[in-house]
Amino acid sequence: MRCPLCKGEMVKGRKTNLPYELSDERVIIVRNVPAIICSQCGDAFIEADILSKVEKILDKATEDGMVLGFVEYEKAA
Ligand SMILES: [Zn+2]
Repeated sequence: MRCPLCKGEMVKGRKTNLPYELSDERVIIVRNVPAIICSQCGDAFIEADILSKVEKILDKATEDGMVLGFVEYEKAA
């Protein structure tokens, strides 16, 4: 797989932190999300099933009333 931005090599099995700005006051960062990351520019590609889990984590954090914080992907998924 090649990076859509720079055509660099995409490496599987890496992890990344995904910041989500849900509104002006609410920022949730999901940490250590499995990703495919470009070895050249660092752009991260998240697979669809992982992305849907991340969305569930964000929903849960919203239900819990989290305003600002970190969620570990491995613990929450
Ligand atoms: Zn790239």
